[in-house]
Amino acid sequence: MALVIKTITLGIHKEVNPGKRQAIVDTQALYNQTIAFYLDFFVAHRGVFDARKPYHKKDGTPSERPWTAQELLTFAEQQTLDTLAHPDPLQPLREVLPSARAMPVSLRRAAINHASGKVKAWNALVTRWESQKQPGQCPQLGAPHEPLTFYANLVAYPDFDLLAQQAARHTFIAVTLWHNQRWESVPLPVTLYEKVRPELAASQREQARIREAATSLRAMKGDRKHWEAADKEALRPQTWCAQSFTLYSRPDHRYPGHQRFSLHIPLEKWVDTPQKAEVQRAIDPGMTVVTVDLGVNRLAVIGAFHWGKLAATQFIAGGSLNHHRHRILTTIFHKRQQSGRLQKDVLDNGDLWQKVQNLDENAARQVAVRIVRFAQAHQAPVIVFEYLRRYHQPKEKMSRARRKNHKRAYWLRGKILRWVRDLAFREGILTVERNPAWTSQMCPQCATLGSRQGHHFVCQNPDHAYHADADFVGMMNLYKKWTKTFTYPRKHAGDEPKPLTAHAV
Ligand SMILES: [Zn+2]
Repeated sequence: MALVIKTITLGIHKEVNPGKRQAIVDTQALYNQTIAFYLDFFVAHRGVFDARKPYHKKDGTPSERPWTAQELLTFAEQQTLDTLAHPDPLQPLREVLPSARAMPVSLRRAAINHASGKVKAWNALVTRWESQKQPGQCPQLGAPHEPLTFYANLVAYPDFDLLAQQAARHTFIAVTLWHNQRWESVPLPVTLYEKVRPELAASQREQARIREAATSLRAMKGDRKHWEAADKEALRPQTWCAQSFTLYSRPDHRYPGHQRFSLHIPLEKWVDTPQKAEVQRAIDPGMTVVTVDLGVNRLAVIGAFHWGKLAATQFIAGGSLNHHRHRILTTIFHKRQQSGRLQKDVLDNGDLWQKVQNLDENAARQVAVRIVRFAQAHQAPVIVFEYLRRYHQPKEKMSRARRKNHKRAYWLRGKILRWVRDLAFREGILTVERNPAWTSQMCPQCATLGSRQGHHFVCQNPDHAYHADADFVGMMNLYKKWTKTFTYPRKHAGDEPKPLTAHAV
C-alpha cells in the first residue's frame, strides 16, 4: 500500500466582502506575528534544542534523546500562556499579542510547532557555523511568511446555499478567522467547479466512514494501543479524502487589495502498489496492456492490446499546439532582434515565455489524463512507453524559432511521461519503458525492414503490401517489445543497417 496525494485549489471569489477580505489579511498577519513571537521565544531558549532527556530503551538500557516536538510545545505553552492555575507565565503571549491569546488552539499550536521546527533547524546551522569557523555571515532566521492551515475543527460547510450564487457556481466554506475583533467562523465564497462537488461529497462520506469505524473499534478494543495493524489499515482512506485546508494568498493586480486568495485542499488515499512488470506478465501473459508512442507532430498514439490483439486505438494530434507555440516563439525572437543585444541574467519577454511554458504544461497534463483514462477504460494494469532518449538537434536547417519549437515539442514527451507515471500510480497502474530501437522501422506483421516516407511507413517485403502511419507502427511494435516477440533486423555482413538516431519527426 502507498499513500497518494493530490490537491484541489478552490479560488476565493474576487468580490468577497471587504470585511471578510480584511479578516483573511488580519488573520494571516496575526498568525505570522504569533510565529514570530514563538521564534523569538525559542531563540531565547536555544538550550532546549541541545538538551537531552534520559529515557529507557525497549530492552531497559538507559539512554538519552532530544526533546520531542510535543515536549517543546508543552514547554512553550507553559512559559507563555496564562491559565487559572498559572496566571503569571514568564513571557506572556497576552501582553504582546492580546488577540492571539484567544486564537483557536489548533492554529496556535501549528504556529508553535512551526516556530520550534524552524528554530531547531536554524540552531543546527548556527552550531555548525560556529564550530567550523566558516567565513561569511551567520545563518539568519528569516521573518515568517506562512499560509494559514485550517484543521478540521476550524472548517465548516454551511448548509445554506443561496440560489443566485448556486447559478454562478459559488458556494461557501466557513473557516475560523479573526473577524470583528473576535475569532469567528466566516463563510468565504469559493468558486466550486462542477466536478469538485461530487469529489468533496465523496470525501465527506469517506470521513464519516472512518469516524464510524474508529468509534466501533474504540468500543470493541479500547485504546489505540490495543489495535492491530489490520484495524489501523481499515481506518485509512480508500477513496480521496480531504485533509486540512490551507489558505494561500498571492499577489495579483487584478484583484482588490492586489491579493488573490485560494483554498488548497489536499486529498489523500491509500492505493495498492502495482506488482513488478515481469511478475504481472508471468501471472497473465495475455493481460490487457496499453502501449503509447509519443511523437512530436502527433502527441501520442495509444493502443490497447488483449491477448496479442489490438482492441482499440486513440490518436492525439499536436499540430495546433506546435503551431501555437511556434507563433509565440517567433514573436519572442522577433522582439529580441528588435531590442538588440540581450542583457546577461535579465529575463526577456517574461510573459511570453511563461505563456509557452503554460501551454506545454497544460498540454502534457491533458494528454496524460487521456492516456490514463484510456488505460482505465480498457482495464489495463500496465502502460508501456518507449524509453525516451536525449534530444539531438536535427541536421536540417531551421529558423531559431523553429529549432526551439522542435526542442520544446521533444521535451514535452518527457513531461507527458512524468505526468502519466504519477497519475497512473494513483490508479494502481504500472508505467514501464521499453527500448525504442527499431520500433518505427520494422513491419509489425511480417518483421521485415520497412522504409519511412515522411510520417508514413511502407513495408519493403515484396509479398506484403502493407503501409501504415509511422507512429502507429511504433505503437504496435512496442507491444512486441513488451511480449518480447519483437524481431530485430537480420544481420548481413557488410550491409548491416543502423537504427536511425532518435530525431522524433
Ligand atoms: Zn510487412
